[in-house]
Amino acid sequence: MDKLYDITLIKGILQRYGFSFSKGLGQNFIINPSVCPKIAEYGVPDESYGVLEIGPGIGVLTNELCKRAKKVVAVEIDKRLIPVLGETLSEHKNLAVINDDVMKLDLNDLIKREFGDMPVSVCANLPYYITSPIIMKLLEDKLDVTCITVMVQKEAAQRLCAMPGSRDCGAVTISARYYCEPEMLFKVSAGSFMPAPKVDSAVIRLNVRKEPVITPKDEKTLFKVIKAAFLQRRKVLPNTLAAGLSISKSDAEKIIEKAGVDKSARAEQLSMEEFCKIADSTYDYFTCSK
Ligand code: SAM
Repeated sequence: MDKLYDITLIKGILQRYGFSFSKGLGQNFIINPSVCPKIAEYGVPDESYGVLEIGPGIGVLTNELCKRAKKVVAVEIDKRLIPVLGETLSEHKNLAVINDDVMKLDLNDLIKREFGDMPVSVCANLPYYITSPIIMKLLEDKLDVTCITVMVQKEAAQRLCAMPGSRDCGAVTISARYYCEPEMLFKVSAGSFMPAPKVDSAVIRLNVRKEPVITPKDEKTLFKVIKAAFLQRRKVLPNTLAAGLSISKSDAEKIIEKAGVDKSARAEQLSMEEFCKIADSTYDYFTCSK
């Protein structure tokens, strides 16, 4: 259905199904007609693609994805929306809707089962309450996808696309950059949604790396160090690492010294390579002291 931007039509459909918006599930549906075609243009590299969508809502973005992709699989947690989607997207034979919580699914298994040999991308207007956990799950599960195109809160987009060493940089910046090359695409105003959220949004694309940009001795230690370093971002590294890794300040200093990193630096000033060196030195500290 192409008129899913029409507020009167949407309200009529939702009323018929007795649907009311759930703030807790981050339900802000797109009503600006120019937004979804643009997201779908970036989100579907070509017509051979299978696309995994998270949170189709009433299907306004799904509709655009189905027009461009070979197959779309949309995962929606809210069972009240399943019959709505059955009506709004009935013309698309290349769509499968799964009623589940994306955080609980084995996405590698789903991708193999649903898309077979197709190249795959992820595309979504993400529920804001759970943006970072979803993105980290998509990346940490090492899905066989080429890119992840998502609309998120503007501040989250800025953080994800920040350069390491810049003020906007956070744990999620470094973790995301380990797996992908982030790209800021375009901003979307709060008035483009129903109901309108309090903040503006932005669409970003995470282009998944074929080869890692750094190769730590142990990935788990790298992520532990990143989290620990940003736990108290105003503090210098020895203090924040000591607290985050439950070690003494003098041991934290030794780890940082061995890594050849400046002890007076703060997490937001470090490059990817410096995080990798601290992670390797932390790994040696824990494995050698056992
Ligand atoms: N794609 C629609 C659009 O752009 O208008 C709706 C986007 S709305 C921001 C987020 C959607 O994600 C809602 O439909 C919500 O029910 C769904 N959702 C929230 N948490 C989810 C989860 N854990 N797993 C799957 N879907 C979820």
